[in-house]
Amino acid sequence: MLDVIIKNATVVNADGRRQLDVAIKDGIIVAIGMASTFAEAHEVIDAGGLHLLPGAIDSHTHVRDPGRSDREDFASATRAAAVSGVTMLCEMPIAAVSTHSAQTLADRIDAVRDRLYTDYALYGGAADDNREHIAALGNAGIIGFKTFRTAVPPGREKEFIGLCCPDPGAFFTVLKETAKTGLPHAIHAEDEYILSRLAEDYKRTGDLGPISHTKARPPVVEEASVAQSIALARAAGAWLHIVHVSSPYSIDLITQARANGVKVTCETCPPYLFLTDADIELHGPYAKTNPPIRDESFVEGMWDRVARGDVDIIGTDHSPFLASEKEPGWSNMFSAPPGAPGIEILVPLLLTAVGYGRITLERMVSVVSTNTANMFGLRGRKGVIAVGADADLILVDLAAEGRIDVNQWQSKSRVTARLWHGRQTRGAVVRTLVRGKTVALNGTVVGELGWGRFVAPNPRPYERPFW
Ligand SMILES: [Zn+2]
Repeated sequence: MLDVIIKNATVVNADGRRQLDVAIKDGIIVAIGMASTFAEAHEVIDAGGLHLLPGAIDSHTHVRDPGRSDREDFASATRAAAVSGVTMLCEMPIAAVSTHSAQTLADRIDAVRDRLYTDYALYGGAADDNREHIAALGNAGIIGFKTFRTAVPPGREKEFIGLCCPDPGAFFTVLKETAKTGLPHAIHAEDEYILSRLAEDYKRTGDLGPISHTKARPPVVEEASVAQSIALARAAGAWLHIVHVSSPYSIDLITQARANGVKVTCETCPPYLFLTDADIELHGPYAKTNPPIRDESFVEGMWDRVARGDVDIIGTDHSPFLASEKEPGWSNMFSAPPGAPGIEILVPLLLTAVGYGRITLERMVSVVSTNTANMFGLRGRKGVIAVGADADLILVDLAAEGRIDVNQWQSKSRVTARLWHGRQTRGAVVRTLVRGKTVALNGTVVGELGWGRFVAPNPRPYERPFW
């Protein structure tokens, strides 16, 4: 007896689509073909007219749980994921105490165990101040390392233990350690020295209004850090992964390095694809992200690189804050915390990009699901509709027209999500399944707390990585 059969959907993978039926037992896809050849099932879902996709994997979230549950926790974040078609979150190391050792990793997994509607995985920090923990942390179940090439934000020292490494010499030493683990090493690529010099110079103009953020933090801050980090990673033999790339010229540096045999991959995020500096003028501190949202020509350049396949993955950089923390930024942008919520726009906005012909549905599946799973050591288990894979699936209606209403969001940080409010969408998530169980239906969470699990990667080295 099967658990679930999904009939009559168009099944979409990164390499194409076909009209097929899917059979699920014990959370795993056990057959793909004609339902008439399957055994009986407890539940049969008739998905005529809908497309069945692998669930999206958000490669970049900052739930920061345990820590500031007034901003967000894993219960609210995974509810947001479930209703919007995200079946797994890849959580960054920032938390009340950062994930920077095998022990802090184990403590964190323990602390959030009962607050999960969907699956999640964890990154671990790597910097000069936790160097002695890197080897053990790499073998404790993380999907990758994360380093900020910027300094620790003042007052947040405990959240950033083992996370910040602006100094190139120290970072080179850290890369040599992470290289031994075979895991991807993600970086926030902004050059601290260029950044602080330009910010100081800019502050002297007396302009602290919204657009000062992008003026004081031009693309070269990112591009210089990308170029330097690639050189260091090549010499160290590390797998460098550059997150939230905002400049098409950074992507071109990455593409060129990879063509020369350097192990380097990259991610971009919705703010760099769907927003422009005009949104910073309009939404002020609520549109403050690091790196900053760029101008129209950069957004067009980023879409070219996504369509070409030069951008490996798209994640959200979901960063919840309170309105009371963002508001003072109107009079001084430098004082506002950087980041915006984004889990709930990932799938709807990418479906919209597909609906308007920016990219194909197959390209969308590769950048939000298949490539992400493969990069993080989950090839064949997640990110694909195939026999033997987890039944993490979403049913989508490509024709549904609507508007984003952040008041309906599950994320606690919806109060700071005004930059996404009212945007037109084409395509909607109808149903989300995590390991065979329906966790959300037509925008309502129907899953149970505690269903979500911690996901650790396959043993290394990975088969067929990206170079
Ligand atoms: Zn981030």
